[in-house]
Amino acid sequence: MASNAVSRRQLMRVAAVGAMGAAALRTGPAHAARDAGSGRGGAADLVLYGGRILTMAGGAGVARAIAIKDGVVVQVGDDASVRRLIGRRTEVVALRGRTVLPGINDAHLHGLRTGLALPPYNVDVGESAVGSIADVARQIAAAVAQAGAGAWIRGKGWNETAFAEGRPPTRHDLDPVSPGHPVALLNVDPRWFVVTGVKLRADGVPIASRTAWMREPYAGGGRGGLVTIGSTDEEKAAELTAMIALVHRAGLQIGTHATGDAAIDAVAAAYAEAIRSRRHGDPRHYVIHGDFAWPETLRSLARHGCGVSLNPNIKHLIADTQTGVVGDARAAYQTPYRSALRARVMVTSASDSPNVAPDWRQGLETALLREGRSGAVSGPDERIGLDEALRTYTTSAAWQDHAERWKGSLRRGMAGDLCVLDGHLTDERGRLAMDAHEISDLPVALTVVDGAIAYDASDPSARAAAAEGRAVSWASRPNPAHMCASC
Ligand SMILES: [Zn+2]
Ligand SMILES: [Zn+2]
Repeated sequence: MASNAVSRRQLMRVAAVGAMGAAALRTGPAHAARDAGSGRGGAADLVLYGGRILTMAGGAGVARAIAIKDGVVVQVGDDASVRRLIGRRTEVVALRGRTVLPGINDAHLHGLRTGLALPPYNVDVGESAVGSIADVARQIAAAVAQAGAGAWIRGKGWNETAFAEGRPPTRHDLDPVSPGHPVALLNVDPRWFVVTGVKLRADGVPIASRTAWMREPYAGGGRGGLVTIGSTDEEKAAELTAMIALVHRAGLQIGTHATGDAAIDAVAAAYAEAIRSRRHGDPRHYVIHGDFAWPETLRSLARHGCGVSLNPNIKHLIADTQTGVVGDARAAYQTPYRSALRARVMVTSASDSPNVAPDWRQGLETALLREGRSGAVSGPDERIGLDEALRTYTTSAAWQDHAERWKGSLRRGMAGDLCVLDGHLTDERGRLAMDAHEISDLPVALTVVDGAIAYDASDPSARAAAAEGRAVSWASRPNPAHMCASC
């Protein structure tokens, strides 16, 4: 796949990444691992030393220093071996014990939607920005004052129940403040964008709307259903199976949105059937969300070389209220990290932004603690350790992208993508060295993409852009009732 792929690396340098300042995101197999010896003898472009570098490269453990040249790691190891590569034009960063991770790889999000949901592409008309239609009109007027003649004004996140007027805005509210500008204010944004492979959707969501297709009824009744065409569950499952077979035969990778256990069973069975009937390549199909994937289904996915992409941020957001939706046992099991690892299925972690902020630190914390917003633990048996959780954001996510040969770990020849945390996540042996409750507050000091510093927290304008991104309503006050309304 890597040999004939078009580079799509630039695509992910979206405003969202810089604005959030928390993740180096990108997709697409852009380059195969280059000759590990390239650059040897020449000065590096960037050297970081004196830190704790979690290479995620098998037994290599924690290094102290790393050098990058031409976008690729050229040396990882002790300070002396790396500092030899410092030349006159090398940018040098003293880490002073801070933690370095490979570029964080959020395994499922809507990149274009996320970027377009941030300023300046989007007027925030969500609950943390406006309390009335009059406020909305003021926000639109301010955007119009900045916009070119006739430009579209886009906004997202309004909710009439939060408006003092108690009704949706209409053109009569907005036309007077936006003469000559078309205005689109979305409550629910129906677009999605996928860069590699094909995304299908099997069912709804297992939250208040109870639309995920479940084996057993919800608390209060109903089992949800598939969203494919058909008048019975069997017909809908047959349609889903046919869709998966069609895409599989075309040689494409498939990620399927499936949250309910019955839906995940149907997707896993369809993957298995497609792969058995036509083996070609290594498609690595995966389940997106996988909330209620039971052990036998996880084992089936593993046997067929498929993966599951879990959403720890959403777990954190909804954990406190799920007992009322699916009962105690299923609520505790929901988002089953430990069971997935035990089944030896490849597990990745994903935010599903812009459903929630693409904040992997919150996700990492939740994978370790499984706490809801109240602090109550949901399913302690499904907690995993730091190294296991970091793999879901690095090496396993690279596997899902068919990109483990060039990203996900920090070895010679791998992509020069780094995340520097302003703190001490681990000790010198890579073991958690802080209270896990503080992981989500660890500041990101530096994000390096292709060997170039993409975010530097010491730059006030970068910090301001990140703060602005974090403050938008959908990121700062995600609405559990709207999860996956359009993904
Ligand atoms: Zn989804
Ligand atoms: Zn999604």
